[in-house]
Amino acid sequence: MGKKNSKLRADEVEELTKRTYFCEEEIKQWYKGFMKDCPDGRLTLEGFKKIYKQFFPFGDPSKFATFVFNVFDENKDGFIEFHEFLQALSVTSRGNVDEKLQWAFRLYDLDHDGYITREELLDIVDAIYKMVGNMVKLPEEENTPEKRVNKIFEVMDQNHDNRLTYDEFLEGSKKDPTIIQALTLYDTSNSGSMTS
Ligand code: CA
Ligand code: CA
Ligand code: CA
Repeated sequence: MGKKNSKLRADEVEELTKRTYFCEEEIKQWYKGFMKDCPDGRLTLEGFKKIYKQFFPFGDPSKFATFVFNVFDENKDGFIEFHEFLQALSVTSRGNVDEKLQWAFRLYDLDHDGYITREELLDIVDAIYKMVGNMVKLPEEENTPEKRVNKIFEVMDQNHDNRLTYDEFLEGSKKDPTIIQALTLYDTSNSGSMTS
């Protein structure tokens, strides 16, 4: 890995075709784009925030981008390597509903203890509201992060213990698909570029 390998090895490509929903050709295209934007083969948090800023120029996406970055960065070394990037991209854009929800749960469960608390959800929803800024006009009953969180807990927290298990989250998200809509940033039908 790193600077000296500017090309993906054949066995790396093969491994990625098994671990993602992308075909060989797409993987090569994405790799080209990734290396163009990150010549040393890894994406930093700052770079990641910049990508989000292009999608949300009128809001402040840095908090949300940081949460998402932490899920992408599976080995927790502070960088997104290409294989991490592609795997997260595969799940969030082409995964089935269950895969997307598992991914979303990991995003929302900030301390990874297996529950989403009100505080965690508030942190995430607040980050989403800051990111979207004034682009979307929200209905009166969910125009603050607190109201939105209360509404989500009303729907999802079946045993009223103020935290959501994965099963509660799963059931609730099938009723309210907007939960996972916020995740999809990249249009993978137009592969090879992170920004268009
Ligand atoms: Ca990493
Ligand atoms: Ca938690
Ligand atoms: Ca509960």
